[in-house]
Amino acid sequence: RGTSPVPPDVRPRLTVLSGPSGVGKSTVVAHMRKVHPEVWLSVSATTRKPRPGERNGVHYFFVDNDEFDKLIANGELLEWAEFAGNRYGTPRRAVLERLDAGEPVLLEIDLQGARLVRQSMSDARLVFLAPPSWDELVRRLTGRGTEAPEVIERRLSAARVELAAESEFDTTLVNTSVEDVSRELLALMLQASARRDSS
Ligand code: 5GP
Repeated sequence: RGTSPVPPDVRPRLTVLSGPSGVGKSTVVAHMRKVHPEVWLSVSATTRKPRPGERNGVHYFFVDNDEFDKLIANGELLEWAEFAGNRYGTPRRAVLERLDAGEPVLLEIDLQGARLVRQSMSDARLVFLAPPSWDELVRRLTGRGTEAPEVIERRLSAARVELAAESEFDTTLVNTSVEDVSRELLALMLQASARRDSS
């Protein structure tokens, strides 16, 4: 008597969506944004220039190199990585605030970032988005534009290495359709919001 029970740990787990480049991560997230606007998506900072249609504060926080240096120096990034000549990072505070408020949080980041999150937040759930097949990934990587053959070859060899990362992940979702994957991903996130010790 007199000692209150330890409150259940209801802090949700962080869900990290990652996978080889070209597998369709950002399409899944765009779909999630449209169909489930109630799901909170972390907005990364990047030194990349905005693409047409991308809005600051919605798709990314677009910053210059000096600003990115400051984010790192001030410890404001949960993780960051360099990808294809630009830097990308996850603002720490917003993520932790959402998790503390009991809301599921989704990060869509590259494989290096996923590994760093694994180190700093050991209870994060890492979800690997896999292509339906190698042939399909080749089609997506080569069919994306007008890249030179050596650029495509570089991407394919990178993709081969990236596919091997699957074994480091907790769960794999195969990107057969964007609707199916979004549904499965949301189910994982809600499951991850249940008591941590029950999943
Ligand atoms: P894109 O330039 O096509 O928007 O993104 C390039 C890559 O950067 C994608 O693989 C995307 O998942 C990754 N990315 C986006 N934001 C972050 C982030 O905050 N951290 C890390 N590590 N990767 C990110």
